Amino acid sequence: MSTLMAGAMSVVLYSAHLSFPTEIKGLNYWAAGLITLACGAGLFSLRYSPLGETFALLSANSALIWGVGFGMIGTQIFYGRAPSWWLFHSVWALAMAGVGYWLIIQPHFAARVAVFSFLISAFYINQMVMVWRYGDRHFSTRFFGILLLLQALVVLTRGLLAVLYGGAQVNLLSMGPFQSLYLAAGHFMVLLLAVSFKAVATRRLQGILERRSTLDPLTQVLNRRGFADIYAKEHALMRRESTAMTMLSIDLDYFKRINDCHGHATGDRVLIDVAAVIGKALRVSDHVARFGGEEFIVLLPVTGLDRAHHIAERILSAVREPGRPGLPAYTVSIGIACQTSINEDLDAILMRADEALYRAKERGRDRIEIASGPVPPLQVIQA
Ligand code: GH3
Ligand code: MG
Ligand code: MG
Repeated sequence: MSTLMAGAMSVVLYSAHLSFPTEIKGLNYWAAGLITLACGAGLFSLRYSPLGETFALLSANSALIWGVGFGMIGTQIFYGRAPSWWLFHSVWALAMAGVGYWLIIQPHFAARVAVFSFLISAFYINQMVMVWRYGDRHFSTRFFGILLLLQALVVLTRGLLAVLYGGAQVNLLSMGPFQSLYLAAGHFMVLLLAVSFKAVATRRLQGILERRSTLDPLTQVLNRRGFADIYAKEHALMRRESTAMTMLSIDLDYFKRINDCHGHATGDRVLIDVAAVIGKALRVSDHVARFGGEEFIVLLPVTGLDRAHHIAERILSAVREPGRPGLPAYTVSIGIACQTSINEDLDAILMRADEALYRAKERGRDRIEIASGPVPPLQVIQA
């Protein structure tokens, strides 16, 4: 039964590995680990076959160590850590030496159980530390961490019982209360650990997809959708706190020429550069988005025209600054629109900012213009 469950979960995790984005790593190692565990369980049943008990037990123990070890490697890769193959190989070599010695040279069941249990617990403890240090605070991660802790405790307890009470207490083939409990927990744990690791990976997938749906892939600033969400939040805040917010509409000047003269790839690098330059000129509470093409929108919450104008000037002069290697010189034009009324919506304020931008283009580019509209252009609003 446990063999079937491990096999099924292996398929589930492998198909997740194939379909999840490549940033989510480690699922394939977990899939390999589970199938190896299933093989290990199968090998135990060869005890009474012509291959003999020694072969069956050695190969089964080896497969179990590889199986759990692959899971550990998978978890490490998942959290972006270097896989500790040295631990993987050391545990395997020591366990094989111990199990081999107490199986062939000096048969001693309890010693085999103890050495196997203590060594394999290293894999669970290592993963637990990994989850503790690098995992997020989400329920799925905590659940995974707690399961690893429980599994480590169960395995260590089995090792300890083997040392304290000898073979009978821990012999899984002679059923007693602890043995039944251990078997049930062990089988169930394999499934639970795999399910909870899958939940942790799915949670990461969700984060990646959310980010992808709200970020511009080229410049990594917000896209229209992400910006609309942020605007809705800032608009609600503005309603509560009766403050002003200001929008900058920034467009690269003669960008078509840059593409034509230097190639599309250089054009793309200019777009990445301008996004970075704008970002540096802003406060952490400000937001920048790319609205397709070479137009960027900046939202300055709790900001009036004078401060917005100051920020726009900072952007203008930072863009003009030479010294970014490999990039052609370029300039931007900026339109500013200040929103003081909560009755104005995103489309209306953007339209006013764009009007100001077009005026900046008409008046020669590489300059700033302030929108007329609900707010008279000369009236400076303090945030
Ligand atoms: P203006 O000063 O009036 O804004 O002139 P412009 O050349 O910047 O504006 P125009 O709208 O004529 O050209 C915009 C160009 O931006 C045309 C298009 O090929 C280019 N463009 C749009 N998106 C991208 C992109 O993602 N990468 C690159 N390299 N170019 C892009
Ligand atoms: Mg342009
Ligand atoms: Mg444009």
